[in-house]
Amino acid sequence: MKQRIVMKFGGTSVGSANAIRKVVAIIQNNKSLDYEIAIVVSAAVGITDLLNLCISQALGVENGNYSITLSIIKGRLQEIAEKLLRLKPDKENFFDILNKFLEEALDDCKKVKGNAENLPEIKDRILSIGERAQIYLVSSALNQSGLESVPLQASDFIITNNSFLEATPLQPITNEKIKERLEPFLLKGIIPVISGFIGSTSDGKLTTLGRGGSDFSAAIIAAGLDANEVWIWTDVDGMMTTDPSLITNTRLVTEISYKEVYDLAFFGARVLHPKTIQPLEGKKIPIQIKNTFKEKNQGTHIHLSVKNSKRNLKAVTGIKRVSILSLRKRRNEDMGTVVSLVETALANSNIHLLGVFQDINKDTTFLAISQIVSDVDLSEFEKKLGEHLPGRNFPRLQHRPSQTLVTAVGHLIQKNPLLSAKLKITLENAGVVIQADAYRNTENSLSFLISEQDHLKAIQQLHNEVLSHA
Ligand code: ASP
Ligand code: MG
Repeated sequence: MKQRIVMKFGGTSVGSANAIRKVVAIIQNNKSLDYEIAIVVSAAVGITDLLNLCISQALGVENGNYSITLSIIKGRLQEIAEKLLRLKPDKENFFDILNKFLEEALDDCKKVKGNAENLPEIKDRILSIGERAQIYLVSSALNQSGLESVPLQASDFIITNNSFLEATPLQPITNEKIKERLEPFLLKGIIPVISGFIGSTSDGKLTTLGRGGSDFSAAIIAAGLDANEVWIWTDVDGMMTTDPSLITNTRLVTEISYKEVYDLAFFGARVLHPKTIQPLEGKKIPIQIKNTFKEKNQGTHIHLSVKNSKRNLKAVTGIKRVSILSLRKRRNEDMGTVVSLVETALANSNIHLLGVFQDINKDTTFLAISQIVSDVDLSEFEKKLGEHLPGRNFPRLQHRPSQTLVTAVGHLIQKNPLLSAKLKITLENAGVVIQADAYRNTENSLSFLISEQDHLKAIQQLHNEVLSHA
C-alpha cells in the first residue's frame, strides 16, 4: 500500500512565486518516494485580511474604498502569476478566473454596503476568494513542472451546516464525498490541489470554517481519505516551547500529543488551528508540522501519546487580549449552576469560553472569553443570559485590556500538584500578581489570569521551567 499524505501549505508558503516554487520542489521530492499526495492551500499571505478589509470598508467601519482594496489584491495575485507561470495560456486562464472572482467580490461588496440581509453569507463568499483563486496558481505550477495535478474547490465535497463564518462539516456526507471525489485522482497519481478554509451548505451556499481554518480543512480531508499522515507546511520549524517573537531561547517541541497540542492551540499558540485535532484523533492520523523553507528540519510530530512522559512540561502560551465576565457569589447560591448556565448562554451565542477562574477567596468567579467578539455578539449574549438567569444582575461584560491569560501545557500537569505549586511560586517570586487561578482546566493545561503588564515576565518565568524540564 502506498503512503497517503495530505499536505497543507499555509499563506506564506504560497505567498510568492518563489515560495510556490519551493512547494513544487517539495512535492517533487515526495512524489518520487511514491506517496499519494493531496494538497490543501491557504490564500496567499495577507489576502484574507485584505478581503476582510473590503467588507469593513463596505460597511463603513474602516476608511478607504473597497474597489481599490480589490485592485490591490488583483495586483498581488497577478504579480505572482506573472513570475510563476511560464506559458501564456496558463497565465491568461488564471487572469480570467481571477477577474471573475473579483467581479463577484465587487458585486458582493456593493450588497454589503446596501445592508443586505444575509450578511454572513455574503461575507463568506468574499472572504473565501483568496483560497478559491489560489488553487489555480499552485496546480498550474505543478503541471508546468510535469507533475499531474487538478485544482478542486473544497465546497464541492466539504458539506457544512449553515453557521456562516464558522461552519461545521456534516458527517457522514462529507467523508463520503471526499472519498468519491478525491480517491480516483489519487489512485491515478494525479495530485488534487484543494482550497482550504471553505465548504458549502447542502443547498450549495459557500461557507467558511473560521479564520485560520485551512488546517482544519486538511484534517477533514485526511480523515475522509483515511490518510496515513497530515503534513502542515508553514513558515516556522514547528511548535516551539513558546512564541519565539517574545523570547529568544525557545526550543522546538519535537513530539507532542493531540491533547497537549489542542490545549496549546486553544490557549493561544498560532501554529495550528485547534479544530485540526478532532477529525484526526479518532482515526489516529499523525500530524507533522514542517518548515517549507527549511525542508530538512525535524519539525514537530503530533500523535496519540508521547513516550517520554517525564517531559511533563512542554510549552507555554499566552493570550494577550481577553475579556472577563466576573460573577460574585451570593449567599445560598450554587456557583456551579450559575457558571454552567452562563456557559450555555455563551455557547448559544457562539462565544468561545477560554476558561473559568476563581479568586483566592473563591467568592468571585471569572469567565475569560477571547476578545475577538463583536458588540453585536455581546449584546445577543446578554439577552440570552437574561433569559437563562432572570433576576440576577450581571455587570456588563467588559473588555478588560489589563488582563491576560498565560497557560503552561504538559502531560497530565493537572494531576501533578507539586508541579502546579512550583509554577505558581515561580510566578509569585518573580513579582507576578496572579489575579486568579484556573479553577477548571483540561488535564494537560494550567492557566493563570494575570495583569497585562506582567505578561512577558510570566511567559519568561514559566518558559524557564519548561526548559529545565526538557
Ligand atoms: N486564509 C484564511 C485565513 O487567513 C484561512 C487560513 O489561512 O487558514 O484565515
Ligand atoms: Mg494558519
